[in-house]
Amino acid sequence: MSGKRVGFWVTGMVFLYGWWACVPLRAQVGQKPAAMGIPASQALVGDTSALAHEAQDWLVELVKINTTNPPGNEQAAAKYIAGILTKEGITPELLDVAPGRSAVVARLRSSAVPNPSRALLLVAHMDVVGVDRSKWTVDPFAGVIKDGYLWGRGSIDDKSMVAANLAAFIALKRGNVFLNRDVIFLATTDEEQFGEGSLKILIAKYWDKFAAGFAINEGGKVVVKNGKVQYVGLQVAEKVSVNVAVTATGKGGHSSVPSKDNPVVHLAAAVEKIGNYTAPVRLTSVVRRYFEGLSGIEDDETAKWLRVIDTPDRGEHAQRVLSDMNPMWNSMMRDTIAPTMLQAGVRANVIPSEAKAVLNVRLIPGDTIDVLVNELKKQVNDPAVKLEVMPDGGLAAPDSSMENDLYALITKDAAKEFGGAPVLPFLSTGATDSAQLRLHNVQAYGLRPFPMTEEDDARVHGDDERLPLASFPKGVDLLTKIVAEFAVTR
Ligand SMILES: [Zn+2]
Repeated sequence: MSGKRVGFWVTGMVFLYGWWACVPLRAQVGQKPAAMGIPASQALVGDTSALAHEAQDWLVELVKINTTNPPGNEQAAAKYIAGILTKEGITPELLDVAPGRSAVVARLRSSAVPNPSRALLLVAHMDVVGVDRSKWTVDPFAGVIKDGYLWGRGSIDDKSMVAANLAAFIALKRGNVFLNRDVIFLATTDEEQFGEGSLKILIAKYWDKFAAGFAINEGGKVVVKNGKVQYVGLQVAEKVSVNVAVTATGKGGHSSVPSKDNPVVHLAAAVEKIGNYTAPVRLTSVVRRYFEGLSGIEDDETAKWLRVIDTPDRGEHAQRVLSDMNPMWNSMMRDTIAPTMLQAGVRANVIPSEAKAVLNVRLIPGDTIDVLVNELKKQVNDPAVKLEVMPDGGLAAPDSSMENDLYALITKDAAKEFGGAPVLPFLSTGATDSAQLRLHNVQAYGLRPFPMTEEDDARVHGDDERLPLASFPKGVDLLTKIVAEFAVTR
């Protein structure tokens, strides 16, 4: 074969291969009769109420699978989800991380060759925090429905998102649509403890299975006030959790002859100073935009302060007023330090030689722990007390963009779903898995699309966690529309 011919064939092959790789694939790979829910031919952004009804049943079943972490036992939930996907003709894969602990992943392809940078990841965690059964008025793992709520641990955090993601994902498959990007469903393990089965570990072991450029996760909220949706908080950044050990040391000895170097006394004084310290305000661009948006929808008195929060003359006073008004706003404006653990002594009549405290610090993204710790050392000003950053801290991740197509689409669809309610970018004070994703160049958005009052929201991780049943179909509808509009080729 001549050189010329080889050249022709190679070019031709490359051309053919390139063409073949771009051929759109139907999300529905194996033809099946349309399941109940939405008919295969119906437009995806049509009525999702039947689908939401099915998804509510999945949610109830997921709540009944006790995935309290530790130990997690997420494999049982993963198998249940895998069963649902299989019935839909989708091939799921279990990603094992530890005995009894597996994540579950599935993919709807847009083309034969994946393009991770375009892919959309729908991610939610299957594990839940523990319960104090004596404080619950219902069995937290029975999936009880009463008074218009689904009661149970995980009914909000985060099994509601698992079920809604599953619904949006299955809607694409049933819709038999052409996708312009891969859509990946992932239900994860060990989000609450961030240990052996965390997303960090899943990424290290299985990144190629769910690598994506965009993600929708928990972390946001749809705030209901005075009976209607006030705004949608879309999480685009989160504070960074770092623990600091405070150790006071002294000689110790018999408590009948105390001396001035009792470490219990030194530690108590240090903790008091730290506890009363207020870090300076630093407004990030996300928080500025959040307060700006809020100033348009809050009551007049609050709005008055929100509007001047960043002005040279009245800013400082406004920051103080708003910090006192709302502890979450306070935490969104500055680094916070919460002493959370104290440990000293073994006997009533023995002065210990060491006393320890743990501080949980939540840093504004971009702030560094060393700067804060140096300031705290100055405040404590005691050579008998040492402050040390503990090694289990979170990492600061870049913010997700407030300018791209997905952000715009969420804004548009949320307004449509919730009577014109605005989407405000949100810095969450708590940590989610999105930080891990953002560290891998994923534009991750925290959206918990179910409208809820602050009162119901406050039950997350608390007693009698419950999801308002009327809000679930709205969340499913919104999520399904966002996913379809972002990923379906028209
Ligand atoms: Zn959660």
